[in-house]
Amino acid sequence: MTTVETMSTHGQLLGTVLAVQANFYRVQLDVDEKSLRVQGDKENFALLPHPPMVLCTRRTRLKKIGQQVMVGDRVVVDEPDWAGGRGAISHVLPRRSLLDRPAIANVDQILLAFAVTDPPLEPYQLSRFLVKAESTDVDVLLCLNKSDLITPQVQEEISDRLLGWGYKPLFISVQNGINIAELTNHLNNKITVIAGPSGVGKSSLINVLIPTVNLRVGEVSGKLARGRHTTRHTELFELPGGGLLADTPGFNQPDLDCSPEELIYYFPEARERLAEASCRFSDCLHRDEPDCVVQGDWERYEHYLEFLDQAIARQTQLHQQADPESTMKIKSKGKGKQQYEPKLESKKYRRVSRKTQLQELEQLYKESED
Ligand code: GDP
Ligand code: ZN
Repeated sequence: MTTVETMSTHGQLLGTVLAVQANFYRVQLDVDEKSLRVQGDKENFALLPHPPMVLCTRRTRLKKIGQQVMVGDRVVVDEPDWAGGRGAISHVLPRRSLLDRPAIANVDQILLAFAVTDPPLEPYQLSRFLVKAESTDVDVLLCLNKSDLITPQVQEEISDRLLGWGYKPLFISVQNGINIAELTNHLNNKITVIAGPSGVGKSSLINVLIPTVNLRVGEVSGKLARGRHTTRHTELFELPGGGLLADTPGFNQPDLDCSPEELIYYFPEARERLAEASCRFSDCLHRDEPDCVVQGDWERYEHYLEFLDQAIARQTQLHQQADPESTMKIKSKGKGKQQYEPKLESKKYRRVSRKTQLQELEQLYKESED
């Protein structure tokens, strides 16, 4: 935040980009009336909504240097035309974080919303969302909706189970207003992205958090997308108590795109073990390596192994695309003909069982005898 303060002392206007569409950026300005020096500005400023919002273009200089402006970006706005509610973005401040899908800068936390039931709480699906959220490096807040549908005993069972996973879920009910105030406190003055499968009550939740949200969506599409196609775009909505919230529509099965080596660190319960002790091998993938401190007796170990297989398969595919020869093996097809065939997985991650090693040795002996 120091950069922000320094820049505003130079008399520049700072703001946050809430929406991007076509070549326009909707920017919420930090200024209040006191910081405006010119009387005319003050009068026009009073006409703007609060907090003040301007529709901006991007300075040509930014285009030339290839500087993108994203939703969530902190920007310097030049020459605001208060009466017209217009401005131009001249600088983009360094980003604290960057999500790719949806593309939003400076996100503080991911609010993962699931339901305790209806649809049933699926451990594998929840795990996948959690790992995906952990892999972004921003904080994760797990919220379980529809708590009105279960008994306190069942709630305690779920809570205990998730504590074992390293999470302390916030049980809410949008319908009965349970823990909504508590949740609001977690969202104050932060940029939050909400994610979760459909049917868990995400839309209902957004509507209680931001009662004017539907109205706002209408406003924006009127101003920014007049006569344009109405594709859903990423947008940050202001929370009444401060803070910004973005939705991630259509995000039912997130792809895990982390490397096999990183994966284990996205499981808090395993991360804890690795903070206290080390595996014998620094490149341990925690499958069946000797003296591994992670293997075994934790509930989500099965999920880990499954996601690991997927991460390895994905890595192998990427390597193949980058350099086909590196992951193809030459197979003799008799009569001196050779053919490239894809290897099953990169050599790096291949598990060589003792049996295969023996078979390979036998093969070598046979070949040398031939
Ligand atoms: P989304 O697909 O995640 O956006 O979910 P919706 O907001 O459309 O909600 C799906 C269904 O769950 C709707 O029928 C809601 O009325 C219902 N629902 C939402 N919140 C609650 C809740 O707290 N308790 C109960 N019992 N039902 C809820
Ligand atoms: Zn290990």
